[in-house]
Amino acid sequence: MKLAKRVAALTPSSTLEITAKAQELKAAGHDVIGLGAGEPDFNTPQHIIDAAVKAMTEGHTKYTPTGGLASLKNEIIEKFKNDQEITYQPSEIIVCSGAKHALYTLFQVLLDDEDEVIIPTPYWVSYPEQVKLAGGVPVYVDGLEQNEFKITPEDLEKQITSRTKALILNSPSNPTGMLYTEQELAALGEVCLRHDILIVSDEIYEKLIYGAHQHISIASISSELKEQTIIINGVSKSHSMTGWRIGYAAGNKEIIKAMTNLASHSTSNPTSIAQYATIAAYSGSQATVEEMRQAFEERLNIIFEKLVTIPGVSCIKPQGAFYLFPNVKEAAVKTGFENVDEFAKGLLDEVKVAVIPGSGFGAPDNIRLSYATSLESLEKAIDRINQFVQSKL
Ligand code: PMP
Ligand code: GLU
Repeated sequence: MKLAKRVAALTPSSTLEITAKAQELKAAGHDVIGLGAGEPDFNTPQHIIDAAVKAMTEGHTKYTPTGGLASLKNEIIEKFKNDQEITYQPSEIIVCSGAKHALYTLFQVLLDDEDEVIIPTPYWVSYPEQVKLAGGVPVYVDGLEQNEFKITPEDLEKQITSRTKALILNSPSNPTGMLYTEQELAALGEVCLRHDILIVSDEIYEKLIYGAHQHISIASISSELKEQTIIINGVSKSHSMTGWRIGYAAGNKEIIKAMTNLASHSTSNPTSIAQYATIAAYSGSQATVEEMRQAFEERLNIIFEKLVTIPGVSCIKPQGAFYLFPNVKEAAVKTGFENVDEFAKGLLDEVKVAVIPGSGFGAPDNIRLSYATSLESLEKAIDRINQFVQSKL
């Protein structure tokens, strides 16, 4: 059967693919350390699980409104008020089956064929594919390593055409862990307002911030920027709820209405039980969110120091999320590999450490290491990478 043109060029998610491969090898008895995982390694906090069990027992196992339960929307509105000081109405919120699905639905309602979406590199693997699936064209702006992988207003302005519809911002970033400051966001926002470009602000790693850094939502800077922005967020990373599939979008009510209409013909609604669990996640104690953040920060501080001592490896210290994104070009060249993709393959084949090559993120000189795994495994993995490089010098 000949498949549709729109999927012919679709590349599978490298993050999910490599994570699955590492798990498969592990299950087959290989001593693999997986640093591919894009999800917290903690179990979902117990009070959230209890709320889901209660919801099932009480019969909340039926369809819900497409855009999400009113009580959940209210919790999300409270969250925005408390954390970002932004006020939304229920008509400005849609709950989706994960943040990924919120983004997918957004691009489907936003883009006509050939509409352009500006994506800063390095980017999360799904952005370009989702834009293409909606008929749009990804236009890349390089976030240079010497500028902490962040784009400047001048770089952005150069890529704007009459077809530019949106800019994606992801702060903290997957894969780099970098955060935009309020001044940087305001300057990028000014360009978007002037050209009437929608800002898609993916804030899924908002709760995972380290050191003295601070997360700022671009929508919180001014009422104009709030109008110009769709925020994407969810509980996957903050509350270790990746499998529950709850994310949401907040912003312009016409866009949210169109997204809700589309979802009414695709998912009908996000899982009822997971919605009740999310109400508990937001209304209950946030202590576990902070405990997980502290655990990530402790791991980061320990392994970052070890990583940068490996010959040919350099890395900017991440400010958020749970990834390290070292440049390993020199290490790859010195150890005789043709490119970093091959180097990453060598790591898995020879020392059984699974990492994600940066090429999938538009940064072919880097690899992504997730530290969402135990400190013991992380230390072992960094030792193995070090030995791998040293043995080939
Ligand atoms: N945005 C980014 C940057 C991500 O890393 C992820 C991770 N999966 C998502 C969105 C999607 O999150 P979710 O699991 O809620 O779909
Ligand atoms: N976002 C995570 C990652 O980048 C999970 C996998 C995915 O959804 O692509 O690894």
